[in-house]
Amino acid sequence: MSAAFKAAQYAHHKQEWARYIEERDVSLAETERDLYDKAHEEEDSPFVRYTRIERHPEVSALKDKLDTLEGLPKDSLLTLARAMRPVVEKLMQLRTHLSQREGADDYPDFILALSGINEGTARELLEDVKVTHIDDALDIVREENIAWESYFDDLRRIEPFDEALDAEDVLRKVENALKTDLASRLTLHISSAGIAGFARTFSDASVHVHARPLENPAALKTFLHELSHALLYIERASDSQDDFLIPQIDEMAATVIEHCLIQIICTQTEPDAIEKVNALEYSRLALSALFELDLWDRVSAPEAAFAGRYGELMPIEHPDYWTLDSFRSLDPFMVQYYAIGRRQAFDVLKTLEDVTDKSAFVLKLARTPETTILPGVNA
Ligand SMILES: [Zn+2]
Repeated sequence: MSAAFKAAQYAHHKQEWARYIEERDVSLAETERDLYDKAHEEEDSPFVRYTRIERHPEVSALKDKLDTLEGLPKDSLLTLARAMRPVVEKLMQLRTHLSQREGADDYPDFILALSGINEGTARELLEDVKVTHIDDALDIVREENIAWESYFDDLRRIEPFDEALDAEDVLRKVENALKTDLASRLTLHISSAGIAGFARTFSDASVHVHARPLENPAALKTFLHELSHALLYIERASDSQDDFLIPQIDEMAATVIEHCLIQIICTQTEPDAIEKVNALEYSRLALSALFELDLWDRVSAPEAAFAGRYGELMPIEHPDYWTLDSFRSLDPFMVQYYAIGRRQAFDVLKTLEDVTDKSAFVLKLARTPETTILPGVNA
């Protein structure tokens, strides 16, 4: 990867940070356009091929429209869902067209192939995650009164801590357990404002992590997930690996590392509370991912695909909500990878239990995640 492309990616990260964390009124159009242009001068890699679709000026403009709609004052989720529909449909058509130009059958085929997974394997792993968690998740939905419309707020109500944990303390625990220095290259931003979690590299030596105050297991889990991204970026940079991971592998790897960190550093009571959140979260993610796969096969009946899948976990009042499920600008076709990461984490955790040098194991995982976490690759 050329230095110019890398610099353009870092400039884009800073712009994303300003927009999503500092909530400044900045556009991503210019940095995305720059990446798109530069991607045509780069040697082919999964990240470069991904950039040629996701930073395409028209894709960029449609995602910006979705973002803007989300940010506008609205009467209800239903109004938002309906306003998003034509934009989502255009985005799907455009992604199909661009994927076919890249030689794939459709967009899922393009994305899954970048990480070496086929749709059959993806569906099998997702079904496996769903079956593992759905009964517990259904109990939690009943006990905690979880609704689709208020899902993320509801998630944060589960088993709140008596007192918020200190993020710096958690970071020190991770550093001690992994015998590595993260703090000198990492800036933490803990704030109730903005999205739940975010991690971005501004340069090889500077990673920024945003998380909400650690007041409940869901927030702790998110913080450890973002720290896992930071660990990936820092370890890969110090190992002179200068190609970026595609977001899908990045998410799968961060999910697996997050599970390792929970196993290594959490005290006796936290893991049970986190598991409760996990049962619900990974059921939702598996169902959302299966819906998204169904959607591309049945574009003419998205409402039925959406209500059919989510109905297994929570009542869906308006099937029109389907446009809200998987089209946030930050996660195009990515939920699959959190859920598959959960499935792969089970195997990795079994190995981790028997390993004497847990620190070396996790650091190697961070440097070269592809060799350990992809389905079909032996740990
Ligand atoms: Zn992530």
